[in-house]
Amino acid sequence: MEKFSERLNRMSFSQTFVMSNKVREMKANGIAVISLTLGEPDFDVPKNIKEAAFEAINQNFSHYSPVPGFMDLREAICEKLERDNHLQYKPSQICVSNGAKQAILNVLASIIDDDAEVILPAPYWVSYVEMVKMMDGIPVFVETSIDTDFKMTAEQLEKAITPKTKAILYSSPCNPSGSFYTYEELEAIANVVAKYPQITIISDEIYEYINYSGEHTSIAEFPQVYEQTAVINGMSKAFAMTGWRIGYSACPTWLAIACEKIQGQMTSGANTMAQKASIIALKTPYSEYQFMIEEFRKRRDLVYGLMKEIPGFKVNYPESAFYFFPDISYFIGKNLNGNYISDADDFALFLLDHAHVGTVGGVSFGNSNCVRFSYAASEADLKEAMFRIKTCLKTATVS
Ligand code: PMP
Repeated sequence: MEKFSERLNRMSFSQTFVMSNKVREMKANGIAVISLTLGEPDFDVPKNIKEAAFEAINQNFSHYSPVPGFMDLREAICEKLERDNHLQYKPSQICVSNGAKQAILNVLASIIDDDAEVILPAPYWVSYVEMVKMMDGIPVFVETSIDTDFKMTAEQLEKAITPKTKAILYSSPCNPSGSFYTYEELEAIANVVAKYPQITIISDEIYEYINYSGEHTSIAEFPQVYEQTAVINGMSKAFAMTGWRIGYSACPTWLAIACEKIQGQMTSGANTMAQKASIIALKTPYSEYQFMIEEFRKRRDLVYGLMKEIPGFKVNYPESAFYFFPDISYFIGKNLNGNYISDADDFALFLLDHAHVGTVGGVSFGNSNCVRFSYAASEADLKEAMFRIKTCLKTATVS
């Protein structure tokens, strides 16, 4: 007999994994599907980072680490935050976790009680909603569209705030839209939040380095909200270390202690070898790894040129992360080859079945008009995928 908690019943499986599993099934059946579903760099971990991990194994870093991470890693994170973000933190304010995902959960678990509201500008990263629900909070959505580059204004934010609002959670650069908030936009948001001391900003900056404009701002840079902000970052995207599971939070001291308390009862310190290797990654000038960003930039430009030519697609020019989030609302409410398209998820399924290209519909990202394409794939695959979609839609009967 299945005996699920209400908590579990409230939650959904990640749509990204649902689509990538469908792609896997089709591939196993001999169909040559191109998958643009998953959000992870397709590069190998850089050599000096791998060597540092071997070295850590040989030096027997095989015991539990302190719960919030090795001191030398936390110092390296503080140096990075000062160097790249002009932020001053002490190692005691850093908690190293099993990926940015756990860092966000630690913060939510520390501040969210029943019915606490968490504001999520939509589109948002799929996991945010489920994480808020897991912590018994209530997600409150602020709608945006492609016309405003998928960004929430300070005025929209202020309208969404109620006495129950405990947090605002967003990613900049953004998964899935590829937009990022500028200095001025974040300053306006900071000015609003500063008026509500009960609110914590959870600023997910995991795509910080994948920003082709080179203009990353962390909202914690604004002194009026430094004490209200949890900065989230990690190694997954910048160093192609998704499987190594190292992320971190930088918080005001009270919240850092809370994160350590939660993590100490949940998982303990993160993987020791990956922690040691992360020190080398963070201390190496990022110019050594910049080739990955340049490669992403080339692919972004390639896909932008090709996607604009696809009939019915409205495309913005994403300045960061490695996603396109075109608006395909032209097809909604119509039949494509006899298949009724009620929302972006139906459209993503249509593309999978008829063009053999895997994408993720925007419904679980909080936008039912858009579809997410990850361009963390080879140029050859990207060209072929755009060609297949264009040909498929040009020849499809639309009624
Ligand atoms: N935040 C965002 C916006 C992401 O896209 C992802 C990964 N897809 C994460 C956090 C999780 O990162 P990590 O691998 O460090 O847990």
